[in-house]
Amino acid sequence: MERVDIRRWSKDALAIVLLFLAYFVTARFGLLLDAVAGFATLVWPPTGISLAALFLFGRRLWPGVLAGAFLVNLAAGASFPVALAIGAGNTLEALVGAWLLRRARFDPQLERIEDAIALVLLGAIASTAISAAIGAGSLRAGGTIPSAMLWPTARAWWLGDMLGDLVVAPLIFVWVARPRLARRGLMVAEAVLLLGLLATFSLRVFGGTAHEPGLLRQAYIVFPFLLWAALRFGPYGAVTAGFVVSVIAIAGTAMRLGPFVQDTLSESLLYLQTFLGVAAVTALTVAAAIAERSRAADVRDEFLAIASHELRTPLTALLLHIQTGLLRLRRGGPTAGRDEAVSQLESTQRLALRLGKLIGELLEVSRIVWGRFKPEREDVDLAALVHESLARQEQQLQHARCAVSFEVEGAVRGYWDRRRLDQLIDNLIGNAAKYGAGKPIEVRLQGRAGDVLLEVRDHGIGIDPADQARVFERFERAVSRKHFGGFGLGLWISRQIVEAHGGSISLVSSPGAGSTFSVALPRGG
Ligand code: ADP
Repeated sequence: MERVDIRRWSKDALAIVLLFLAYFVTARFGLLLDAVAGFATLVWPPTGISLAALFLFGRRLWPGVLAGAFLVNLAAGASFPVALAIGAGNTLEALVGAWLLRRARFDPQLERIEDAIALVLLGAIASTAISAAIGAGSLRAGGTIPSAMLWPTARAWWLGDMLGDLVVAPLIFVWVARPRLARRGLMVAEAVLLLGLLATFSLRVFGGTAHEPGLLRQAYIVFPFLLWAALRFGPYGAVTAGFVVSVIAIAGTAMRLGPFVQDTLSESLLYLQTFLGVAAVTALTVAAAIAERSRAADVRDEFLAIASHELRTPLTALLLHIQTGLLRLRRGGPTAGRDEAVSQLESTQRLALRLGKLIGELLEVSRIVWGRFKPEREDVDLAALVHESLARQEQQLQHARCAVSFEVEGAVRGYWDRRRLDQLIDNLIGNAAKYGAGKPIEVRLQGRAGDVLLEVRDHGIGIDPADQARVFERFERAVSRKHFGGFGLGLWISRQIVEAHGGSISLVSSPGAGSTFSVALPRGG
C-alpha cells in the first residue's frame, strides 16, 4: 500500500514539475510580446495548458500552476505580494475552469456541440475573468498601474487568457483524449496538402506588409481552410488548423505585418485576438457538429444491427415452439399430458412476453426522442405497483430461480405516472432476475419526507465501476451480446422516466457481488 502511495506521489510530483516548466516557458514567451504594463499580455498560452492539465490529469496538479505564475511574475519584476496575488489568481482560474467543465460533464474529445460551447462559455469567458480581475486588481493595488490603466490591463489579460483556452487548451484536449477518426484512403496526403495550403495562405495574409493590400491578403481567406480541416478531420483538424493559423498570425502581427497592424503592438494584437477567437470558435463548433452527425449515424447502424438480431431471435424461437406444438396436435398421436402442454405454453408465453418487451422499448424510445414524454400524474400507491409487477413477472422470477423479498416502510403514495412507473419497476426487477439468476432479490420502499425511495438489490454478476455511468445511456451495455440479450435501453428509459418525475436514479455495485439500484421519487402533486 505504502509503495503504491509513494509511486503515485512521485508521479504527481513529476507532473507538477512538468506543468510548472510548460507554464513558465510559454509565459515567458507571452510576456515577450509587448505586455501591457509589463505583465498583462495578449498572448497567454499557459492558461490553456493549465486548464487542460488540471481537467485531464487532476486538480491536485495546481501547485505547478501557482509556482509557474508566481515565479514568472517575480522574474518580470513584480513585488513578492503582487506576484503571489497574480499567481493565486491564475491558479484559481485553472481550478475553477476545470471544476466548471467537470460539472458540465465536458468531454475533452470535443465531439459534441455542447462541449464546444462549454469550453467557450465556462473556460474561455468565465474562468479567465477571475485571473484578469485578480491580476489587474493586484497590479493596481501594488501601484504598478494607474487607475486609468485598470480596464485596458484587465481587458488585455482577459483576452490573452481567453485565447489560451480557445487555441491551446483544445489542442491538448483533443490530442490527449483522442476522438475516433475513421481511416480513409489518401488521408495523410490530404492532411499534408491542407496544412501546406493553410500555412501558405496564412503566411501571405499575416506576413504581408500592411501597405500592400491584395485580394488574397484578407484575413477571412483562412476560413475555407479552417472549415475544410473541421469537416474532413473533425476535432483534430479544427484544433490543429486553429493553432497553426494563430501561431503564424501572432508572429506576423508581432513583426508589424499583416492586416491587423495598428499604432501599437497591443492594439494590433487586440484586433487580431478577436479575429482568432471567432475563427477558433467557428472551427470547433463545426467540427463538433460534424462529429455529432457521424456518431448518430454509427449509433443508428449499430442499433439496426442489434434490433434485427434481438427481434429475430425470440421470434424464431416462438415460431419453432408453435410449429412443434401444432405438429404434435396434427399428428393426432397420443396427446401430451396436460402438465406438459401447460409447460410448453408457458415457455411460448415467455418468448412472446420478451418480444413484447423489446417492441415496447423501441416504441418508448421513439416517444422519448420525439419529445412526447410528459408524466400523466395521478394518485399512486407505489407498494401496489411493486406487488403487481412481481405478479406480472412471477413466471420469469421462478424461471430464474430468484426468491423475492419485499419490504415497505412509511407512506409510499405520491402523484406519478402509473404506467411509466410500472415500466420502471418492471425494468429494475427484470434486470435483477436477468443478471442475478439463482440468487435472491430484495425490493424495498421507504417513504421519506419529500420523496419515496425505491431500492432493488440483487446478488448477481454486478457491474464494473468503469461501466456504471455508461449503462444508463442509450444502447449501452456492459455484458456481451452472446451471454445476455437486450437492447441496452431499459436503464436509459428508466432514467428518463425518473428524471421526468424530477427524481434521480443511482447504482451501487461491485462485480460478482451484485447491484443495488436506488430511485428517489419526489411525491409530486
Ligand atoms: P439490457 O439489459 O437490455 O442490456 P439495460 O439498459 O436494462 O439494457 O441495462 C444496460 C446494461 O446494464 C446491461 O446490458 C447490463 O450490462 C447492465 N445491467 C443492468 N442491470 C444490471 C444488474 N441488475 N446487474 C448487473 N448488470 C446490470
